[in-house]
Amino acid sequence: MFKGFDVKFPEYEVITPQTKLSFTVRSLNVKEEERLKGSLMTPTKIHEHLNKCIYDSLVEKPEQITDYDTFLKSVTLKDRDALLYGLYHISYEEIRNYDVTCGSCQKEYPVTVQASSTFNYLPYPGDKILEKRVPVELLATPGVVCTLKQPTLFDEMMAIKTQGASPEANMDVITETLIIEKFQYNPEEGDTVIYSEKGDVIDAYMSLPARDKREVHKHYRDELGQYGVQLRMRSNCVHCGNTEDIDLDLVSNFFRMVFTF
Ligand SMILES: [Zn+2]
Repeated sequence: MFKGFDVKFPEYEVITPQTKLSFTVRSLNVKEEERLKGSLMTPTKIHEHLNKCIYDSLVEKPEQITDYDTFLKSVTLKDRDALLYGLYHISYEEIRNYDVTCGSCQKEYPVTVQASSTFNYLPYPGDKILEKRVPVELLATPGVVCTLKQPTLFDEMMAIKTQGASPEANMDVITETLIIEKFQYNPEEGDTVIYSEKGDVIDAYMSLPARDKREVHKHYRDELGQYGVQLRMRSNCVHCGNTEDIDLDLVSNFFRMVFTF
């Protein structure tokens, strides 16, 4: 009967860029990889499996994180990218055969790089990002103010749970609207109306002129979203020689790696 190997897995320390918490993650084992593979079949389960996988791989975590629930409430989506990077780095080290589509000739070609050579880290300059709110006056929709926040893993889980179940659910829209806490409508006549229920927020978002949507995401990026990790590399097209800087998508690449290793 197998009684286990008394071996310590390699570990890596991650300071989350937005909430500045310190974690240590260890390499995935085969069992955990296999479990992740199963989650690819159901898009609404991907994030749940990813969160559990990260949580299970934590060797050390801050005191205030006492269980899975407090973990979800303390960590933002951008923080998860950083944890995922740590997990990726310690489990695989290199990014293999990542398919790049050339911006010039549009042909695809694969690249392989050391994960650490692509790593960029921009921490949030303030404290308490979870309490930060960004009001955005919508210029193309007069009288409407959209309030933005940095979503946590818990916010994401609740949104997918309450909105993702119906057959007509649009996962892209559910994800895009995670950054919106509420819409406040001050009509020229009559009382102010506040829409903060998730379903109302999604409907209000869908009714916006395209210009306001871009404005909302620009404000989010400038005030909150730019803080985090980025995997950026300079790449030369093997077909036409075009040089460009590309951002590697951590989540999709993580699953690809789990599958092909
Ligand atoms: Zn090219």
